[in-house]
Amino acid sequence: MTKPGWRTVLLREEVVKAVEKAKAEREAGLRRRLPLGAFIEDMIWQILEEQEILRSYGPYIEKISVDANTIILRDNRVGRIVECVLKEGELYCIHCESSNCVHIGYSWAIPEVYKAMNLQGRRMPKIS
Ligand SMILES: [Zn+2]
Repeated sequence: MTKPGWRTVLLREEVVKAVEKAKAEREAGLRRRLPLGAFIEDMIWQILEEQEILRSYGPYIEKISVDANTIILRDNRVGRIVECVLKEGELYCIHCESSNCVHIGYSWAIPEVYKAMNLQGRRMPKIS
């Protein structure tokens, strides 16, 4: 017996429904249709990237609070509270005066932040 390939993987019905719902939400935000394969690939890629970020920064950075415009983090490497704010639709780190520092990367890995930014059609910047 051969192992099923990606094209023949069967998903549970509730998983399919959740994916269709997420796809519809994204399409509503973008006001255009997306190919299913590309949508799922993008979603999986995003999750893998988030896991990678949380794995590398997770031990040092903690989420303190998240509200509509501000994300408060504690960075245990520098021993201080770091504030990331929404500035002209992009996340901006006040501590680093940067929009692509590790704190921004960490903020994007917080599901509620990712979801809110994604609904506005924003993409995570390359973190350096
Ligand atoms: Zn920063």
